[in-house]
Amino acid sequence: MAGKTVLILGGGWGGMALAYSLRGMLSSEHRVVVIEKNETFALCLSNLKIMTGGWNSPADAQRQMSKMSREGIEWVHEEALKIDPVTREVQTETQTLQGDYLVVALGASLNPGAVPGFDEAAHNLYEATGAHQLQKALKEFDGGKIAVVISRMPYRCPAAPFEASFLMDSMFRERGIREQVEITVYTPGPRPMAVAGPIVGDALLGMLAEREIGYGGDHVVSSIDPESRTMLFGDEEVSYDLLVGVPPHIAPQIVIDSGLTDSSGYIPTHPQSLEVLTDVENLETEYTGVYAIGDVTTITLLNMMPLPKAGVFAEAEARVVAQSIEASIAGKPGTLGYDGLGACHVDIGGGLAAFAGGNFYASPGPRITLEPPSARYHQEKEEYEQVLDAWFVR
Ligand SMILES: Cc1cc2nc3c(=O)[nH]c(=O)nc-3n(C[C@H](O)[C@H](O)[C@H](O)COP(=O)(O)OP(=O)(O)OC[C@H]3O[C@@H](n4cnc5c(N)ncnc54)[C@H](O)[C@@H]3O)c2cc1C
Repeated sequence: MAGKTVLILGGGWGGMALAYSLRGMLSSEHRVVVIEKNETFALCLSNLKIMTGGWNSPADAQRQMSKMSREGIEWVHEEALKIDPVTREVQTETQTLQGDYLVVALGASLNPGAVPGFDEAAHNLYEATGAHQLQKALKEFDGGKIAVVISRMPYRCPAAPFEASFLMDSMFRERGIREQVEITVYTPGPRPMAVAGPIVGDALLGMLAEREIGYGGDHVVSSIDPESRTMLFGDEEVSYDLLVGVPPHIAPQIVIDSGLTDSSGYIPTHPQSLEVLTDVENLETEYTGVYAIGDVTTITLLNMMPLPKAGVFAEAEARVVAQSIEASIAGKPGTLGYDGLGACHVDIGGGLAAFAGGNFYASPGPRITLEPPSARYHQEKEEYEQVLDAWFVR
């Protein structure tokens, strides 16, 4: 059997998990090539730890991709510029690479410019540098109004902005100044983590209320004025002293330019096989051997909402695609596909986390439960970062 080439486009959470799995499954005659513009890797959830001072700086959370523990992965540290899904070719700044299999794992890009004033006014929780600036600002903050603003849906990790507000609540309680601080989360969604359904959403609203954290649902920010420290939600003006922001997300430009996105703005992807779809209604594709995983995809659930964008899904999808590619190369039957199971730990500060999990592919919609906060769930959340000890050597 001639050696095959698997091209993985993007070495973030999903691409990294895929490269690691696949390299462990395929013999050395087959190539695993990752095209990734960055040379360092970090789990985005570290931003919360940077915010609270658990990591002193962004560098503490980063690992060098060259120190990946599995040998035999080829790294191309260049910006990918063009994808041809028919020929499975990817053009970078200096070369054109061609794969027998192509997996698009380019994530979602941030587009703060879509909200006038965001860049100047907000501490961007979704960038490690923004989380670091926020760490400093929170240390100096001694009272006033903190607004956490989710600009647009969908965004990565539906829980993260709520976790940020719980963690700030906990920090100010520890400092004994909680009564001087007002914290409010504003979001375009009706309920927190709306895809998980009303029971989970209402439980989270209860947890926010218990901690006197305000909630502004159905609030779409239209502009922010850094001078007057005010935001406009349509006609409603809201003032703040410190602004924590989640910028609008968008598919990476290369994905849009390559014609892979649909009206959702992301790549329509088969819920089980993770193949890139060309006919969404009939779940069919004209592209052979082309997959997409993680935040760059859109997978429509039975309640017509998209599967949330989170690393746990990217990683689970990576495992399915690794098995499918291995089976295809070996000429074996494929796998059953992704089962839609997923979970998230919601850090609420004080060494506690709640746990939301279940089947996102259930009918008529996701069947998700929220387990109350415990130290055990917090410990499990901390253990996410242990994946880095498997993927990288120090
Ligand atoms: C504050 C915060 C907290 C979070 N907490 C959690 C959590 O607790 N649990 C959880 O499951 N998820 C969490 N997430 C979400 C999680 O980080 C993402 O869902 C996950 O990283 C998605 O993986 P991905 O591989 O699809 O994309 P990414 O990890 O974003 O990777 C995409 C990669 O593609 C590269 N790339 C993009 N364009 C190009 C190009 N043109 N050429 C070359 N390379 C390119 C990027 O550099 C990047 O490395 C959190 C996110 C944030 C921001």
